Amino acid sequence: MLIYGWRKSVQELATATYLCGNCQNPSAHALRRAVTKFTLFFIPLFPISSKYFTVCTFCGMTNKLTKDEARQVQAMQQQAPQAAFPQQHAPQYPQQQIQPPRQGF
Ligand SMILES: [Zn+2]
Repeated sequence: MLIYGWRKSVQELATATYLCGNCQNPSAHALRRAVTKFTLFFIPLFPISSKYFTVCTFCGMTNKLTKDEARQVQAMQQQAPQAAFPQQHAPQYPQQQIQPPRQGF
């Protein structure tokens, strides 16, 4: 008996911030790729289809993308200001002392 089927997996590729077409907020969008793989005896063998889409982190709107559009979103992420200024250059603040929890009421 041959057991075959398919399995879907979602990978997060990038996060880009731009104006959402649905909620009009300049929110972060997660770029994800959903890959459907053909499985034989529950072992994934080869991808059947690969779809790209973005998810708005503000309103949850999903938007399907072509492979080229997905590449553009990834390029946008590389130009993001967070990447230009690594955290090491952020001013260092002295660590706040953590107050021990009060005991008894
Ligand atoms: Zn949105």
